[in-house]
Amino acid sequence: MSIKVAFYTFGCRLNQAETAIIQQSFGESDYQIVDYRQSPDLMIVNTCTVTENGDADTRRLINKMRRINPEVKIALVGCQAQVQKERLLELPNVQWVVGNERKMEMAQIIAENPAAAPQVITPTIRKKSFTVPFIGFDDKHTRANLKIQDGCDFFCAFCEIPYARGRARSREFDDILHEARQLAAAGHHELVLTGINIGTYNDQGRSLVDVLTALESVDQLWRIRISSIEPTTIAASVIEKMARKNKLCRYLHIPLQSGSDAILQAMQRKYDVQEFVDFLNFAAQAVPDACLGTDVIVGYPGESEALFEETYQLLLELPFAYFHVFSYSDRDHAKSSRLDDALKVPKAEIARRSLRLRELSNRKRQVYHQQFIGNVEPVLFEQHKGGYWSGVTDTYIRVKVRSERDIRNQLLPVRLERLEQQVMIGSLADSH
Ligand code: SF4
Repeated sequence: MSIKVAFYTFGCRLNQAETAIIQQSFGESDYQIVDYRQSPDLMIVNTCTVTENGDADTRRLINKMRRINPEVKIALVGCQAQVQKERLLELPNVQWVVGNERKMEMAQIIAENPAAAPQVITPTIRKKSFTVPFIGFDDKHTRANLKIQDGCDFFCAFCEIPYARGRARSREFDDILHEARQLAAAGHHELVLTGINIGTYNDQGRSLVDVLTALESVDQLWRIRISSIEPTTIAASVIEKMARKNKLCRYLHIPLQSGSDAILQAMQRKYDVQEFVDFLNFAAQAVPDACLGTDVIVGYPGESEALFEETYQLLLELPFAYFHVFSYSDRDHAKSSRLDDALKVPKAEIARRSLRLRELSNRKRQVYHQQFIGNVEPVLFEQHKGGYWSGVTDTYIRVKVRSERDIRNQLLPVRLERLEQQVMIGSLADSH
């Protein structure tokens, strides 16, 4: 009888890409892959440690799983496993804690130790180029994630990722192309390049631009999207490619984190405000309609009201379409967690500042969307729901149209007509 296994992913796109790959390694002869609500015998949770919510979310999921099936065996894998190690074994039903170095081998680890004593496997993460053992087919989504890089050498003061994910390393160039061809042939016409610090990609002298150039010639691959990319790592040639509107989506998510030089310096970021502004303006001019987004951390230790105001004013002025707002929280391995308590910003104050930024982001998103009304833009359709087909433009605008035809996974021109709660309503421009 096959074992029912479910997968659950917390955190970033890279985690999603990796879960898709781990899932492929659980063969159909031994396992039946089910939704986590369908009372699985086994549950693989790919964890996250970026914010304190990551920890709380893991605990909440475990409690929920135990209500669904009190006997469920849980494997916690990935970032939280890597940094918290044995501590996680104290959680109920947790049988395996496996860090990032070996999480891809989960199927094998379970096969070798199906019911024995709980196991913790968190070896040091090696710094060398890597390959990925399976193709990350994703039958639930049109877009697929393509992992090209892992780890980071930047050691920003607030961040635990270099400890959870190890040092920067790149996926072998040919291995990326192999997976991209398979995914595109299987109908994933848009691929999202993921990693921790993808701008530092380097495999034997080949850079991110070389990856993009090679991917542009993959048959049936219509769109390539870059996920979050660090400022200071984006070559001008990437922006030039975007401006050419070939396959590279006009979309850039560049984490600013703070608009105050004093805070950027304390965070040990690699740029100052002026450098960031110059780059963003260069990108905005080179690719006029590009969707530019960012991350910002609110309440970093020492962020006074005046320093926060610098961030607010900068975000107000810069040509961002949106921002993701994160509340600062101490992470065990991050340097900032050892800063003097007197510098810490009270939680209520962090919540108040975050709300102001979220409201600003909503207003900016509205303005960004509105400029497209009346345009005809290609939309890659993903799903049919509530009487509408929905998909996204290359600039990541969510678009809904009515159509009697099955247009899933088709790239079709749409006339954008009006906005309804941040979703663009349009009509197929090729309707007859
Ligand atoms: S660049 Fe900084 S914030 Fe980003 S993963 Fe590296 S250390 Fe963390």
